[in-house]
Amino acid sequence: MNRLIVDAHLDLAMNAIEWNRDLSLPLAEIRQRESNMADRPDRGKGTVCLPALREGNVGLVVATQLARYRPSSYAPTAWNSPQQAWAMTQAQLAWYREMEALGEMVQITDLAGLEHHLTLWADEQIANSKKPIGYILSLEGADSLVNIDYLYRAHDEGLRALGLSHFGPGRYADGTKTSGQIHLEGLALLKVMGELNMILDVTHLTDDGFEQALDVYEGPIWASHHNVRAIVPNQRQLTDGQIKKLVSRDAVIGGMLDCWAMDIRFIDTVSDPWQLDIRLEHLVDHWDHICQLAGNAHHIGIGSDLDGIFGTEQSPWDMDSIADLQKFEAILQRRGYSEQDMDNIFHGNWLRFLRGAWAK
Ligand SMILES: [Zn+2]
Repeated sequence: MNRLIVDAHLDLAMNAIEWNRDLSLPLAEIRQRESNMADRPDRGKGTVCLPALREGNVGLVVATQLARYRPSSYAPTAWNSPQQAWAMTQAQLAWYREMEALGEMVQITDLAGLEHHLTLWADEQIANSKKPIGYILSLEGADSLVNIDYLYRAHDEGLRALGLSHFGPGRYADGTKTSGQIHLEGLALLKVMGELNMILDVTHLTDDGFEQALDVYEGPIWASHHNVRAIVPNQRQLTDGQIKKLVSRDAVIGGMLDCWAMDIRFIDTVSDPWQLDIRLEHLVDHWDHICQLAGNAHHIGIGSDLDGIFGTEQSPWDMDSIADLQKFEAILQRRGYSEQDMDNIFHGNWLRFLRGAWAK
C-alpha cells in the first residue's frame, strides 16, 4: 500500500473554472479535449485531476481560490475590480461544492473532520475510487476580499488558510518580485485572521512582509509552496534566515515542482526540463537544505503547485501525472531518508501542523 500523500498547494478550482478542465475525468481525456487548443502554453499538458490524485494516494490537499485585482491586465487570474475577483473566487467555491455533491471531494475544516477523513483513507478495504479527496480551502492572495468583513463570510464557507499576496502589487500586501511592508489593510486583516485562528500562508510575501508577518502574527504559519533561495537565488524562494524563523515557529514548508522554482537555469515558458535534465530528485536538494538548517526532517512536505499555470512543459521530466509523487519514496530511500522521515514528508508533518493549529 502506498503512503498517504498530503499536497499543500493545488489550484484545482482555477483549473476547473478558468482553464475549463473537468477534473473528474481521467488525465488522458482532459488532455485529449485540449489537443486543438493553443490559448495557453500548458494546454494538453495538465498533470492533475481527481482520478490521478486517487491513483497517487493523495487523499488530502490544500486547494485554493485565486483571483488577483490588477486593472488593465489581461493575464490569467487578474481582474479589473475587487468585486470581479471576489465573484471569481465564488465561482471557484461553487465548483468545489459541486465536487462535494458528487462525492468527489469533501471539505475539511476542523480536527474532527480531519480525523474522520484520515480513518477513511487508512481503510484498505475501501478502494480509493470510493474515497473523496479531502480539501482544506485556502485563498492565495487576499485581493478578492472586497473589504475585511468578507473574511468572515469566507471563513463561514470553510476558508482556513490565507496568503496576503500573490505576484506583484496587491491590495493588502505586495507580493513576489516586489518589496516593502504589508499595507495597513493587510495588518488589519491579520488581526481578524488571528481572531479566527486561520493559518497564515507566508508564500508570496515580500522579504519585508515576511519579517513583519512573523513579528505580528501569533496564529499558525506555514509556507505552502516554497523552495530554497540558496539553491534558486530569486526573491520567490526562502532565505536561510527565513527558513530558521519558520522552523522556530514549527512551520512546515511545502516543496514545489515548478521547474522555475527548482533550478535557477530554468526560464519560465522558454526552457525545457528534458534538456536541462530537471528531475523530481532536484526537489530533494531543497529538502536536504531545509533539513540541515532544522536539524531534522520535521519541517518539509509537499506543496507541489502542479498545474499552477504550467503543465508538463515546466515540471520535472520524470513526472507525467501527480500520481508520480509516489516516486519520491524510491528517491528519498536512495538519498538516505528513513521510513519515519518519509512518513513525515509524505503526510506526517502537515498533519502534525494541522492537529496543532486546530486543537485550539
Ligand atoms: Zn503560488
